[in-house]
Amino acid sequence: MSQKSLTIALAGNPNSGKTTIFNNITGTRQKVGNWPGVTVEKKEGIVSKYGYELKIIDLPGTYSLTPFSVEEIIARDFVLDECPDVVIDIIDASNLERSLYLATQLRETDCKVLFALNMADIARTRGIKIDADKLSELLDLPIVFTIGNKNEGIDALLKKAIELAESDVDTSGRRKVKYSKDIENSISKLRSFIEKNSGISLPYKTRWTIIKLLENDKLVRERVLQKAGDQGRNIIQEVQLHRELLADRFNDDSEIVMTDERYGFIAGIIKEVLTTITKQRIDISRNIDLVLTNRFIGFPIFIFFIWAMFQLTFSLGVYPMEWLDTSVNWFSISLDGLLPDSLFKDLLINGVIAGVGSIIVFLPNILILFFCIALFEDTGYMSRAAFLMDRIMHLIGLHGKSFIPMLMGFGCSVPAVMATRTLESEKDRILTILITPFMSCSAKLPIYIVLTGIFFSAKAGTVIFCIYFAGIILAIVTGRLFRSTLLRGADAPFVMELPPYRVPMVKSLIIHMWDRSKMFLKKMGGVILIGSVVIWTLSAFPQNIQYSRDYLAETNSVIALYDTKIATANGLDMQHLENKRDAAVAQLETAQKTEKMEKSYMGRIGKTLAPVFAPLGIDWRGSVALLTGFVAKEIVVSTMGILYLAGDEGSDTLKDALLSSDMTPLSALAMMVFVLLYLPCLATVATIKQETGSFKWTLFSITYCTSLAWVAAFCVYQGGKIIGFS
Ligand code: GDP
Ligand code: MG
Repeated sequence: MSQKSLTIALAGNPNSGKTTIFNNITGTRQKVGNWPGVTVEKKEGIVSKYGYELKIIDLPGTYSLTPFSVEEIIARDFVLDECPDVVIDIIDASNLERSLYLATQLRETDCKVLFALNMADIARTRGIKIDADKLSELLDLPIVFTIGNKNEGIDALLKKAIELAESDVDTSGRRKVKYSKDIENSISKLRSFIEKNSGISLPYKTRWTIIKLLENDKLVRERVLQKAGDQGRNIIQEVQLHRELLADRFNDDSEIVMTDERYGFIAGIIKEVLTTITKQRIDISRNIDLVLTNRFIGFPIFIFFIWAMFQLTFSLGVYPMEWLDTSVNWFSISLDGLLPDSLFKDLLINGVIAGVGSIIVFLPNILILFFCIALFEDTGYMSRAAFLMDRIMHLIGLHGKSFIPMLMGFGCSVPAVMATRTLESEKDRILTILITPFMSCSAKLPIYIVLTGIFFSAKAGTVIFCIYFAGIILAIVTGRLFRSTLLRGADAPFVMELPPYRVPMVKSLIIHMWDRSKMFLKKMGGVILIGSVVIWTLSAFPQNIQYSRDYLAETNSVIALYDTKIATANGLDMQHLENKRDAAVAQLETAQKTEKMEKSYMGRIGKTLAPVFAPLGIDWRGSVALLTGFVAKEIVVSTMGILYLAGDEGSDTLKDALLSSDMTPLSALAMMVFVLLYLPCLATVATIKQETGSFKWTLFSITYCTSLAWVAAFCVYQGGKIIGFS
C-alpha cells in the first residue's frame, strides 16, 4: 500500500534549531549532499509517520529571502520552485523580532507556512512571554511551541504540518503585509496592467512578483523576462516607471521603503504579542511609581505607611504582649511562693525578672516593627521613600541617600550609623551621623508604648507617630543648622536607584525580621540583664537605713487603735473598720518602701539629678530611669518597673504604679520627647566614635543631643502647662 507523500521544508534563521529538529524527525534516515552547483550542505530525510511518507528538507539558515547570499537564494528557490507542501519556519522564540523578517517574507509567498516557536525553554527562562494565539491570528498561521534539544513538541508540530498540508486553505491575498498607500497603489496599478494583458504567464504568484519587481529583485526580473518574453519587458518597463514615481515620493529607493515598512509591520506584531516579564515588571513598577513617588500624593502616602506601621506595631502587638506579661507575672509569683525570703530571691524577682521581664514583653512589638521595615525593604518601597525624601533632604543639603541610614535608624542606630559609609562625602557622612540618632530607634519604642499606653490609651498610636515625626523634623532642622555652619559644603549630585517593585518572599521577610530581632534578644541577655542587676543593687543597698519614722511602732499603734474600735463595733461597721485599718497599714508600708528607695544609692543619685529634670516634670525615679538608659534604652522601662513598683505596693502593674505617681500625660509627653532626643546608647556612641574616627565629634554629638533633648522637653512641659494641657 503506497502512502501519500508530503514534502516539508524546514526554514529559519541560523541557529534556530532547524538541524536539531530535522534530526529529531528523521533520526538516522538522512541523506546528506550538496545543493546543486554549490557547496552548501543539503540534508534530506524520509520518514513514515501518521500514515504519510514525509520528505523533510533542512534548508540553509537565512535571515531573509532577499537574494543576497547563496543560502538565501537556495532557500527561496526551494520554497518557490519546489513548492513544498508545508514550510515550517523554525523560529527562535527568544529572538522573536529578529526571526520575524524571514517569517514575514515566507508568509508573503503564499505557501503553506507553519511556525515552530523553538527554544521555548530559553524564552521562558528569559522571562519572554509570547501570545501565540494572537501571533497566529495576526499572521494567519498555525503555531506550535517546541524545545528542539529535548524533542518536545515535535510530534505536535508534524501533526499540525500534515493537517495544514491536507487542508485547502487559500491564503492568497489574505496574508499580506499592508504597505503604505503609494506602494499599494502601484501594486494594484501594476496588477491591472498585467491582468489587462491577458496571457502573460508569470513565474510566481502575481502580487509577490510585483513586490519583488518593485524591490528590483534581479532574479525575479530575469525569470519574468525568461518566462514572459516581450510582455515581460513591458512589465519591467511599467515597473520601472512606478519605481521612479515611488523614489520621487519617498526620496528613497522603493526596496528600502518596503523593507522599512516590513519592519514596521513586525514592530507592530511584537508590540501586540510579546511581553517580557522583566519589562512587565519595570512597566508595573513605573505605574506604581506614578502614584507612590508622585509629587503631590507620594508624600502623604509615605506618611500614611509609616503611621500605619506604628499603628500595626502597637495595636496588633498588644495581644501577644498581654500574654507575655501574664506569663512573666505568673512566673514571678510562682517563684515568690517557692523560694524562702532572702536577698537572692529579691535579686531574682525584683532585679532579674522585673528587669528582663519588663523588656521581653516588647518582643512582639519589635518583631512587628522589624517585619514592617523588612517589608519596605523587600518590596523596594524603601528606596522610593529615600527618593521622596530626596527633595526634603536637599533642604538640609543632603540627598536622599542619606535618608536610608536615617530610615534604618528606626530599627537601630548602630547599623544606621554604619550605613553612612555608603556616602561619598566626609561632611555628608558626619552630618548624617549627627542626625541619625534622632530617628527613634526600636529600643525607645517600649518606653513610648508604656507611657502612651498608660496616659494616652486610645490615641497611643497617633502620639507615638507624632514623637517619631518630631524626631524627623528635628533631624532636618539640625541638619540645616549644621550644614550652614559647621559642615558647609555642596551636596554631590547622584542618581537614586529605583529597583523594580517585587512581591516579597515570606521567607526572606522572616529572615530579615529575625536577624534584627536577634540583636534585641542578645541585648536582653547581656546588657539589660547586667543593667537590671546593677540597678537592683543600687536600689537594694545600703540595707541598714536610718528611717525618719519608726514604721514598726506606727503600724502597731494603728493596728491597736483600729482593733479596739473593731472590738466594740457591730457587723457592718466592723467590716468597714477592718478595711480602713488595712489601708492605713498599706500606706505606712508604702511610705517605708519609698523612704527606703529614696535613701538607697539609686535614690541618692536620683535625688541629685532631680533638680535637673524637675523643670521637665520628671521626678527622681524618672531621672534615674533616664540615666540608666545610657546603657541601653530598653533599660529605662525596667528601671521604672523596679523603682515605681517598689514604691507602690498597692499596684501589681507598672500602669497602676505610674497612674498613682505624680506623672501626668504632659510629663509623660515631656519624658518621651527627652527619650527621643537625648544621648544615644553606649553601643551607638561607640559606633559613632568608630565611624567618625573623632573623639571630638562623638563628644559633640552626645552634648548636642542631650542639650536639645532637655530644651525640647522643657518647652513641651512648660509650654503645655501654659496652654493648660495636663
Ligand atoms: P540550526 O543552525 O538552525 O540548524 O540550529 P541547530 O539545530 O544546529 O541548533 C543550534 C543549537 O541550539 C544547538 O546547540 C541545539 O542543541 C540548540 N537547540 C536547538 N533547539 C533548542 C531548544 O529548543 N532549546 C535549547 N535550549 N536549545 C536548542
Ligand atoms: Mg543547521
